[in-house]
Amino acid sequence: MLKLKPSCENCDKDLPPESTEARICTFECTFCASCVTGVLEGVCPNCGGNFVPRPIRPKAALAKKPASTERVHKPVDVEKHKAFAARQNQLAPK
Ligand SMILES: [Zn+2]
Ligand SMILES: [Zn+2]
Repeated sequence: MLKLKPSCENCDKDLPPESTEARICTFECTFCASCVTGVLEGVCPNCGGNFVPRPIRPKAALAKKPASTERVHKPVDVEKHKAFAARQNQLAPK
């Protein structure tokens, strides 16, 4: 089950469960859309993977299975990430 983390790991922006801006990688590292398309260049700084939009959990389901409230805030080192993202994007099987 998805944890539905409450915020962007990079800029700490709130990403409530109904947010259409939340993006997740395969390990559920969670970022906002503008960080993903901007500074992250589509590459997860933690695992090197790509991102997809996080699905919205319907309200009724959310009442039974609430979203995580544990914030993770680990801003990326922009210069380091640039090099990392370039490498990952070269390797990406697309
Ligand atoms: Zn962000
Ligand atoms: Zn990741």
